Amino acid sequence: MKINIGRLMKEVEFYGQYGSVSGEGITRPSFSAADYEVRAIFINQLKEMGLQVHVDPIANIWGKLACEREDAATIVIGSHLDTVPNGGKFDGALGVLVAKEIIQTLLENNVLLQHNLEIVSFTAEEPNDFNLSTMGSRALTGKLTYSQLMNTSDSNGRMLHEAVKKAGGDLTKLSEITRENLAAYFELHIEQGKRLERQNLSIGIVDKIVGIYRDQIQVHGEANHSGTTMMVDRIDALTAACEMVLAIENITRSFNTDAVATVGKLDVYPNAANIIPGRVDFTLEIRSSCKEERRAIKDAIYKEFEKISESRKINIISNNILDQEECTFDADIVRYLQETADSLEIPYTTFASMAGHDATHVAGIAKTAMIFVKSIDGKSHSPEELSLAEDIEKAANTLLEAILMADKKL
Ligand SMILES: [Zn+2]
Repeated sequence: MKINIGRLMKEVEFYGQYGSVSGEGITRPSFSAADYEVRAIFINQLKEMGLQVHVDPIANIWGKLACEREDAATIVIGSHLDTVPNGGKFDGALGVLVAKEIIQTLLENNVLLQHNLEIVSFTAEEPNDFNLSTMGSRALTGKLTYSQLMNTSDSNGRMLHEAVKKAGGDLTKLSEITRENLAAYFELHIEQGKRLERQNLSIGIVDKIVGIYRDQIQVHGEANHSGTTMMVDRIDALTAACEMVLAIENITRSFNTDAVATVGKLDVYPNAANIIPGRVDFTLEIRSSCKEERRAIKDAIYKEFEKISESRKINIISNNILDQEECTFDADIVRYLQETADSLEIPYTTFASMAGHDATHVAGIAKTAMIFVKSIDGKSHSPEELSLAEDIEKAANTLLEAILMADKKL
């Protein structure tokens, strides 16, 4: 049994029209006009397939292929249909459309599972104007509270509960969102990086989501006149910060692993052409799948900071703002994917996802793992985002067979 790749790629193109502006990619954040349109189309398609459709309180869309056993647990496959502004047609939508294709394939082959099989499209996975990303999966797993959601509005003052209601959800029933008896959750997603391409692999099996460590750092020097203060007399917070930023890059590179560190935000004070910067604030972010490694990188960076502080006579104040543990996926589900890829003779690597996904949260309530498809040039969140049919086909067939294996073994 194989999925129909031609039909799947047509669906990717079809969904990619919604929110698309020629040359500028797809802008389809949750609760935009394009999102409401796509939701209606998706729900219709699920109904036409004969699935039992349910829109939950946060407006996640579920479609259920019920099995004959009454007390059966449920295997879920899905991802998200929303996009970032000017995004591509693969991030999120591919996972949902592969899930739909898999169910269609099972229906066409009259395969009945021992478990219920459900497709899910999660609400607002991407950052959005309501400032709540992975909204659907976090609400599902009890990580967003009723009062928090009820009080959330976007930059135009539109209340989230109204936007959710228009999508068929109902935040007043948030307490009814909990799902029990979920046997497994599988999510297929594009890699959004170059690791698979570099290794010439179509698919990756994801056994972890990286942990993220973030500090907010203040560098205090001395603001002074840019003309009258001689070079030897300066305590320039910006030049010190530059040394610090380069140290972060050098140290993290020297680890020679998949660990990454970034200074993505930097504020200079007072930020005037004729004043030596007296203060610089910047963020330091370290991502790695191993806590000890995050700590080791951080320690090495701060050791270097001490030297810079001494040599440049600046003061460094740092404040931890995020210390998120890595999420380790379920060993059984990872193994089902690996064994399936082996039996289909599809080469793969097993690695950590460097970005967060809905699966991070669902892992708290169901045995979870992900499968990645090669991204061409590693591009994502961009109109140039691309994954090839030949790679998608391998990933989708691996996922299909892994679900059948999970159905037998769980
Ligand atoms: Zn995504």
